[in-house]
Amino acid sequence: MKGICILGATGSIGVSTLDVVGRHPDLYKVVALTANTNIADLYQQCLQHHPAYVVVVNAAKAEEFKAQLVNSPIADITVLTGSDALTEVATLDAVDSVMAAIVGAAGLLPSLAAAKAGKTVLLANKEALVMSGDLFMQAVTDSGAELLPIDSEHNAIFQCMPAGYKTGDANKQVRRILLTASGGPFRQMPLELLPNVTPAQAVAHPNWDMGKKISVDSATMMNKGLEMIEACLLFNMEPEQIQIVIHPQSVIHSMVDYVDGTVLAQMGNPDMRIPIAHSLAWPERFDSGAEPLNIFKVARMDFEEPNFERFPCLRLAYQAIHAGGIMPTVLNAANEIAVEAFLNEQVRFTDIPVIIEKCMDTFTVKPADTLEIILDIDNQARQIAQQLVNQLSPS
Ligand code: NAD
Ligand code: MG
Repeated sequence: MKGICILGATGSIGVSTLDVVGRHPDLYKVVALTANTNIADLYQQCLQHHPAYVVVVNAAKAEEFKAQLVNSPIADITVLTGSDALTEVATLDAVDSVMAAIVGAAGLLPSLAAAKAGKTVLLANKEALVMSGDLFMQAVTDSGAELLPIDSEHNAIFQCMPAGYKTGDANKQVRRILLTASGGPFRQMPLELLPNVTPAQAVAHPNWDMGKKISVDSATMMNKGLEMIEACLLFNMEPEQIQIVIHPQSVIHSMVDYVDGTVLAQMGNPDMRIPIAHSLAWPERFDSGAEPLNIFKVARMDFEEPNFERFPCLRLAYQAIHAGGIMPTVLNAANEIAVEAFLNEQVRFTDIPVIIEKCMDTFTVKPADTLEIILDIDNQARQIAQQLVNQLSPS
């Protein structure tokens, strides 16, 4: 029986994780759940899974939550608040596995703490890895933690790697990774219409049902840019070895190209419970609840090269990884601010890459070798990106 802590339990990945865990009560015990503000959903999750701890990061919501627990069947749950409590629950002795499913930089410290504590880290929170890069991978190596990718593409790549492969290792038998992308909702929209797309259009992903931030990232394809960086780190590869492939059906979740010409692909329905169940059961397998793939219904699969003119965020991601050092941290921070401003209707969809590029231009590259530097650069980049938002914002 393994103990699990789910960071970001109320989000899209958190909910799917609890769905899978709930199918295997003999194998997993929920030790801790965390949420930012959504205490209504958290309460229902607690009734069903009865964790020992919950964290509600927002202090006022935590008080409300505590009041709700009084005289309830789950009154014995310990309720913590504040972002430090995320690290506290992620490193509890009773926790074997940590699902890192907070969105954005807010997930870095607890995910990194879990890695340092030698937990099995199930990593959905790609922003945490992109912003901290080698530092995160080094923490995994130093502690001997197991790092299993939840992002569907990286989970697919991991599944196609040679037997015994450990994330972070280099492998000479692998020539290339083919990183698939759906192309998002604007793959074929006339370019002149892009400046006027709404947040509602941007979050309506054709194949996946996800949180708002990653949905906008999929529409700009920054998601694939972040994933390219994520793949370089997880699989110890150069950016030139990662080929982004537009595959609108999202049936192949990525491929690994070996030196002998063999290409292995992982396929399945677009349902995040598949990579989640893979990582939870690893190295075994168990039921995820996902529908079996109906290959006749799929009928055909298409592949296209990515268009860097339509998706300038892809170019910026390559620019950031080639520059190295702090640049991926800057890229990620500026993107988080720009996406939030777009969702709040402060800037246009096409302003997102403009803000990121201008923000990147204000930094000179230096190594990102300590957590202090990374947090400081993240903070600086957010402030600069926010100023750029304010300049562009109509009011
Ligand atoms: P979401 O917006 O649905 O959920 C985010 C979760 O993070 C919520 O539980 C929320 O309470 C918590 N959270 C938000 N801000 C917080 C803060 N400041 N402090 C503490 N907790 C905070 O997001 P999601 O779609 O589940 O994505 C989560 C992560 O997984 C992201 O990094 C995303 O890129 C990655 N991911 C998601 C999918 C998917 O299908 N949803 C696929 C691949 C990767
Ligand atoms: Mg993905």
